[in-house]
Amino acid sequence: MSLKTDIEIAREATKKPIQEIGAKLGIPAAELLPYGHDKAKVSQSFIDSVQDRKNGKLILVTAINPTPAGEGKTTTTVGLGDGLTRIGQKACICIREASLGPNFGMKGGAAGGGYAQIVPMEDMNLHFTGDFHAITSAHSLLAAMIDNHIYWGNELEIDTRRVVWRRVVDMNDRALRQITCSLGGVSNGFPREGGFDITVASEVMAILCLATDLADLQRRLGDMIVAYRRDRTPVYCRDIKADGAMTVLLKDAMQPNLVQTLENTPAFVHGGPFANIAHGCNSVIATSTALKLADYVVTEAGFGADLGAEKFMNIKCRKAGLAPDAVVLVATVRAVKMNGGVAKDALGTENVAAVQKGCANLGRHIANLKQFGVPVVVAINHFVSDTEAEIAAVKSFVKGEGADAVLCEHWAKGGAGTEDLARKVVEIAESGMAQFAPLYRDDMPLFDKIERIAKRIYRADEVLANKSIRDQLHQWEQQGYGNLPVCMAKTQYSFSTDPNLRGAPTGHSVPVREVRLSAGAGFVVVICGEIMTMPGLPRVPSAESIRLNAEGQIEGLF
Ligand code: ADP
Ligand code: MG
Repeated sequence: MSLKTDIEIAREATKKPIQEIGAKLGIPAAELLPYGHDKAKVSQSFIDSVQDRKNGKLILVTAINPTPAGEGKTTTTVGLGDGLTRIGQKACICIREASLGPNFGMKGGAAGGGYAQIVPMEDMNLHFTGDFHAITSAHSLLAAMIDNHIYWGNELEIDTRRVVWRRVVDMNDRALRQITCSLGGVSNGFPREGGFDITVASEVMAILCLATDLADLQRRLGDMIVAYRRDRTPVYCRDIKADGAMTVLLKDAMQPNLVQTLENTPAFVHGGPFANIAHGCNSVIATSTALKLADYVVTEAGFGADLGAEKFMNIKCRKAGLAPDAVVLVATVRAVKMNGGVAKDALGTENVAAVQKGCANLGRHIANLKQFGVPVVVAINHFVSDTEAEIAAVKSFVKGEGADAVLCEHWAKGGAGTEDLARKVVEIAESGMAQFAPLYRDDMPLFDKIERIAKRIYRADEVLANKSIRDQLHQWEQQGYGNLPVCMAKTQYSFSTDPNLRGAPTGHSVPVREVRLSAGAGFVVVICGEIMTMPGLPRVPSAESIRLNAEGQIEGLF
């Protein structure tokens, strides 16, 4: 067990030069574009050159409905990558980049934790290779061009009350959620209401993560709807003529970033879309490239499996032609207990009965994942507060569900703590058991897709949507958007839309509040509940205690 903080452990890492990490994946040094000594982008020409190769195995890491602290999906993804390396497999990890803003609110990074971390973790959590700055710039360029178009006569007849393209910044700043812009007189344009989202909520982010190459990126950017006219017809980014310049700003950001774990396993860290109004997985280009270079690719989907894994399968895999060979479902005794009704401040006390009760949540996720035709193994991410009896209760429950649960101690021991999990993953991936299929077909009506997810995954009785929502879905179908997948936005804490309904609720309904078309990303966002696209800072933001020490090292971040 370690008493060191994540950042202290990360500082002690013996990092290899990034060229050596690239060599492990067979990437020649000349095809790496280094950002310092420990980060590099992989050249497009190299990516093009490996397209004919056969794919390695794809392993998805997801989780049960979490506690507010997160259940250690990233930590387990990193730990499993290291465990696979230790048992002699050629492994590569694929995870999302971190959003900078939230680091200054609550303590906690996105690079894993303990002895299962990606390094350099400070870089990855802050500016990294500048991808998010590029996305902010591309998004802002379009925003500026829209208002500029209106200013110079509004030839496209944009209804200024119906500009749907908001602005973005990578900072938690609630003051910007709703703004009035163009105030101050004739030379500043026509006053109208607007607002800011955090950069990861930009449709540009979702597009960067789903695009297969720069041509596809530009096409999708052009397809984005930015405003509507009085007659409700859409105005596209292409009409504003911003797609070309935006692609220029994004050309480097499209290339995957290569870094390493504490144990020098290669990791692609690329893209980071929100997991509610977008699909919450790292870029398709990173995952597809990794599959050409490694025998095992371990990747993560955000939130619990009801949201993250569902979108990974129904959106990312469907669009990119990927198929997972196995799913690792992360559970912690803490989260199982919370699903069994224990309050957050009582999680440290042994409570086997609550574990048994909370296992209902775990059981439903196992059954749900099997519906996609993919075998599941449960990883119990070990916390020092877990007791033997609690762990035994989880294991025996999982056995009864026809799966295995493996205790993992990667947080305390690194890859040595996940060798058993790694062996199990190899066993089921090699067995060829997976027969992946998404949950619904492209040609199913949009409302039926929503209903399919609500009934099969959330186990709800019905979907509630008023006439205006149903009419809107109908209209999009008539305009040719009916074959898109749906991207569900709801609470991550429950199968239902009520965050307090833990465990495995039944008999609930799923109310749809709003639907939005992300025409460039290629999905219909279905909003069920309160969804925040611009977070705020807490009363005492962690920024107050972040500083550089006398050695120039960052203190207080993690
Ligand atoms: P997720 O990806 O599910 O959101 P993370 O892997 O980022 O979760 O972990 C969330 C936090 O919990 C991190 O700060 C991490 O260091 C911590 N954590 C993860 N696993 C453990 C563990 N086994 N013991 C203690 N802390 C852990
Ligand atoms: Mg994570």
